[in-house]
Amino acid sequence: MNLSEQLHQMALKKADKPAYYFLDQSTSYGELDKAVTKFADELHRLGVSKGDNIALLLGNSPHFIISLYGAMRAGATVIPVNPIYTPDEIGYILNNGDVKVVVALDKLLPLLEKMNPILSSVEQYVICETQPHSGDSSEFNICNKMKSFTKMVESGDEGFKGPELDPEDTAIILYTSGTTGKPKGAMLTHTNIYSNAHDIGEYLNITESDRVITTLPMFHVFSLTVVVNAPLISGGTLLIVPQFSPKEIFRQIKKYDATVFAGVPTMYNFLFQYPDAKEDALKSLRICISGGSAMPVSLLESFERKFNVRVSEGYGLSEASPVTCFNPLDRPRKAGSIGTSILRVENKVVNELGEEVPINGVGELIVRGPNVMKGYYKMPEESAAVLKNGWLYTGDLARMDDEGYFFIVDRKKELIIVGGYNVYPREVEEVLYAHPEVVEAAAIGVPDPNQGEVVKCFVVKKNNALTEEELLAHCMEHLAKYKVPAKIEFLDELPKNATGKILRRSLKNHVLQN
Ligand code: AMP
Repeated sequence: MNLSEQLHQMALKKADKPAYYFLDQSTSYGELDKAVTKFADELHRLGVSKGDNIALLLGNSPHFIISLYGAMRAGATVIPVNPIYTPDEIGYILNNGDVKVVVALDKLLPLLEKMNPILSSVEQYVICETQPHSGDSSEFNICNKMKSFTKMVESGDEGFKGPELDPEDTAIILYTSGTTGKPKGAMLTHTNIYSNAHDIGEYLNITESDRVITTLPMFHVFSLTVVVNAPLISGGTLLIVPQFSPKEIFRQIKKYDATVFAGVPTMYNFLFQYPDAKEDALKSLRICISGGSAMPVSLLESFERKFNVRVSEGYGLSEASPVTCFNPLDRPRKAGSIGTSILRVENKVVNELGEEVPINGVGELIVRGPNVMKGYYKMPEESAAVLKNGWLYTGDLARMDDEGYFFIVDRKKELIIVGGYNVYPREVEEVLYAHPEVVEAAAIGVPDPNQGEVVKCFVVKKNNALTEEELLAHCMEHLAKYKVPAKIEFLDELPKNATGKILRRSLKNHVLQN
């Protein structure tokens, strides 16, 4: 089975069922499947076939879903790219990914026009119109390479049959930012991506009666698997929110009686702080999912208390399509834990020699299962460094308790060493988050002539009255002396990437520049 075939099967069974709502307009499974086939046919006419790579430079919209499934139906490999990346980042990915066709919003036309001379492999630009006729516009030099998305979906043949898909063919290449070096393209096969969507759907018991808020950016694997593919292959309905805003999230949850919400911790923080939210605003939700980065325990507990819902945290990474662990729904969830191994996926904590450490011992989390990538695109050395004996080395430090629940301690490379003692930024951040006047916090290591490194923290506060002294006194109360920050700096906001991960590297640069 693969995603495109499963969508088709769903359309045969449930043609009239809404697949998604976008801007309060619904599209049925039958209509979606037809659009996907017509788009696939038009791609085929453009010469796209197996082995060709298609990049999507799109936000959360039906264009994304039709292009994703359409490209797979035509046999191509999809490379989703964050459309707000800088030209350098976009150029790197399109060139490294040997991209033949780019599907992009019309707003990006001036940028693509400028970049075209350096995009050596790109043969076609498919333009998704937000302005009438922008996909046909002849004012661009690249107009002879442009196709209108709308026209493709109108004129394709709905009887088109794509090539037979091999389960081991690459379905998606995800460029992961990594904290060092250039982005690497994790190659996920049809089996990888389908199995994870299927298994997480089963784990969360996603069914046709679910209405899922889809606000996480679709170009990120958390969104792609958990709130796009898992509901679509289970017959659920997506409630597409193009841009996260608490007001819009609360509106859609209420209007559509949404049953599933998935977000990164920053989103939970915004929803929690939103002044107009009523306590019963989330009462229709069956599951709240958090992932992508560590959910501070104090935020998790206050959110649950305020809205009377349960928040279940999971964990994953691009290289594993992404989910490997999740808090089970039929057993207690443990605050601060990423839960237990999901179906068919094994997680293990190992030492430097690759040997399993005793219960509660800290080591690197490694993962094995049908969801693990086949390697990085054109990077055999980098692939060999993380794929060893059939296991994926995640680079995350974790421990497992005696009930099989895993806890992420931190990224291996974020470890701060103060005078020889290990300090994990996360434990300092947890203490800061527990202070009622703290909205967001991040800890990094900065060089120190005596101790090698000391802890420096960045905090966004609720109220101007909070002082560094007060917060340090709070840390002193809850942390061993060597873990207490040497300095706390207040900022208006913390730098984050599109999925809400705090960019500790930017904070380190900030320290170097000041
Ligand atoms: P990405 O490949 O962009 O999805 O990033 C994957 C990384 O996000 C993992 O290797 C972890 O460092 C981090 N991550 C994801 N989920 C969690 C979580 N629940 N708690 C802590 N870190 C997480």
